[in-house]
Amino acid sequence: MADEVNLEEVRLRYATERAKRVDPRRDHTLDLTDDLARYRRDPHTEVLKREPVDDRVDAVVVGGGFGGLLVAAQLRKAGLEAVRVIDQAGDFGGVWYWNRYPGAQCDIESHIYLPLLEELDYVPTERYAHAPEIHAHAQAIGRHFDLYEHALFHTSVTRSAWSEVDQQWIVETDRGDRVSATFFVVAIGSLDKLKVPAIPGVETFAGHSFHTSRWDYEYTGGPGARGLGALADKRVGIIGTGATALQVIPHLAQAAKELFVFQRTPSTVGIRANRPTGPEWDGHREPGWQRERMRNFTEIIMGVETEVDLVDDGWTHLYRELIHPSPDVVEGVDPDRRGEVADLHMMDKIRDRICEVSRDRGRFCLGTSCAVSLTTSWALGAGVGFGHGLQPRARRRAVGDRELAR
Ligand SMILES: Cc1cc2nc3c(=O)[nH]c(=O)nc-3n(C[C@H](O)[C@H](O)[C@H](O)COP(=O)(O)OP(=O)(O)OC[C@H]3O[C@@H](n4cnc5c(N)ncnc54)[C@H](O)[C@@H]3O)c2cc1C
Repeated sequence: MADEVNLEEVRLRYATERAKRVDPRRDHTLDLTDDLARYRRDPHTEVLKREPVDDRVDAVVVGGGFGGLLVAAQLRKAGLEAVRVIDQAGDFGGVWYWNRYPGAQCDIESHIYLPLLEELDYVPTERYAHAPEIHAHAQAIGRHFDLYEHALFHTSVTRSAWSEVDQQWIVETDRGDRVSATFFVVAIGSLDKLKVPAIPGVETFAGHSFHTSRWDYEYTGGPGARGLGALADKRVGIIGTGATALQVIPHLAQAAKELFVFQRTPSTVGIRANRPTGPEWDGHREPGWQRERMRNFTEIIMGVETEVDLVDDGWTHLYRELIHPSPDVVEGVDPDRRGEVADLHMMDKIRDRICEVSRDRGRFCLGTSCAVSLTTSWALGAGVGFGHGLQPRARRRAVGDRELAR
């Protein structure tokens, strides 16, 4: 492998492909205010009227995702009585409250991704749990630590200030609340801000459109056993082939009359190998099992040599191979360039898989040796994503850069 790699040539190919895609005209996202504020509307929970709150609590935590829930749980364990979580969402869960699109699931193993499993005596039912289970776990944390009593949902924190006089934080919200607290914690995440590309004409598009993080089941049908039945006579376009698209596209392909996938840049897709777990799963027998599993996973992705690989999945394999590549991959390579050569080797393996699974090689596989292919991963999905495989359907189409440019 090492002998065959011409890194300069590969870098040039990546740079050339990147230059085709990085187009300032497609670089912007819409300002979701005024009419476009409809994209941010919460389709999951009705916003209820309530009187403004004016009181004092021990702690205010902004954000009810896993970050905020973990802090709030620790504060409760430390003995604080009144811990108030404030969130724009209608419930706990953070991104798992917002993201309910078909197929949504975690990519990091549930047994290390879902927090506080031992405290709640819960074992996820799948290795990579689906969104409803993850959201339910967030709600369970809220109940377990009595966080619902003081929580304020559908509420944005707009201002916070430390009052020297009162020795308290003063927190204000868009619902007119004024709360004072001894402790103030901000856990607002980074992936809850939805982005809509500023494609010319998108504001005046006459069809129905929504962001995957505000999935409109009222329009599509579902999410129950009948699936997205209301799309059966619809022509659907999806923009992007990131990790979300990887999860949602197979469902749309099954349900819609016609599906167009608009792809700017394909991304890597590994094998997820999901499977059921649950109380019978034997990784949770010893007390402290979750912390140990998290520690082992973190060590591996940080490059620490470990005797065992407890999670033993696409992530740990990827990091092991990148950080400690096998000699036949990097033999004779300058130590400074080994990481890059190992990365290229991994990417080649991923590209090889596309050709293994694609049933329409002429159309979807541009060859294993290409540095970046234009139409490779749409059906497999994307992000650093992990997929289930292809679900061929004659009516699906991928629309790559060339067609978009027309
Ligand atoms: C679809 C999806 C899948 C993912 N899968 C994985 C995975 O498999 N593994 C992984 O490690 N990570 C994954 N992530 C990343 C995920 O963001 C983190 O794992 C984690 O859930 C973030 O938690 P958080 O509490 O930091 O933030 P969030 O979950 O984003 O929660 C922040 C909360 O703050 C609220 N908020 C923001 N501003 C304000 C304000 N001013 N006032 C009140 N509330 C406010 C938001 O409404 C939101 O509910 C995924 C993300 C998405 C979107």
